[in-house]
Amino acid sequence: MTAAPALKRPLDQMPCDPGYIRLSYELEASLDNSNYEDTLEKWRVIAHLGEDRFGLEHIPPCGKCVARWNQIEEASGHVDEDDECLHRLRVGMLELVKVRWGGSQNPFWAMEEESQNLYEIAETIFDDEHTGFTEEFEEIAEWGGNDVLVLDKAEIGEAWRGFGLGPAIAADAFRRLAPGCSAVMVHPAPIDATGMTRDERDRACDRLRETWATLGFVPYGDTPYMIFATCWADPEEKQHALRKASRELTMQWRAARQIDG
Ligand SMILES: [Zn+2]
Repeated sequence: MTAAPALKRPLDQMPCDPGYIRLSYELEASLDNSNYEDTLEKWRVIAHLGEDRFGLEHIPPCGKCVARWNQIEEASGHVDEDDECLHRLRVGMLELVKVRWGGSQNPFWAMEEESQNLYEIAETIFDDEHTGFTEEFEEIAEWGGNDVLVLDKAEIGEAWRGFGLGPAIAADAFRRLAPGCSAVMVHPAPIDATGMTRDERDRACDRLRETWATLGFVPYGDTPYMIFATCWADPEEKQHALRKASRELTMQWRAARQIDG
């Protein structure tokens, strides 16, 4: 049994009961498949606190909304009471792309068109003719299906960082979206490195590598990416432990406040 990663912040700093966190899964697609969604399935997993409810009044509005209200206040002297911050109940967000063979486009070209990050990953997994995977990739990911799942973006709100929620949310996403995929890949790099020195960026990458290793990702050859094959036992056990840890987190939070759960 793999132990869940230790919290980097004391649990009493968590904005509210983690048992309130809900995950919404969205798939972006057009009716006429005009963006080749049968080749690239773009999933978004939003972690949020559901509807505004009793007990969440203490969660402050986000900085952007406060700045916007200040501007309105300065300009007109009056801010509409109904102008709410819709972001304050947002915990975080993951973006995942399921790359599929047998759709209306070649997966290599679809990834190339989609983004620089996906294109660079495609370069490392497809062979030169773009008709199959490289030998190196197939040695790792031979079983489990033809598709590949890419964890493309992960963002956790400032107030929610340090409690292991990124891996916990990803563990849930992989359980739902990885079936049919032989492997899952991630690029451990900050989404926005502007203003970071080289050292700061390297340290951020190291921390992300540690974070994603808790889900069973390992370095993918000499590329900057990490990978796990869905047929491996270790990632499955680690992800199971993370999902279990989510339940324990809620129990710990409630026990600390002696709330019946
Ligand atoms: Zn806001």
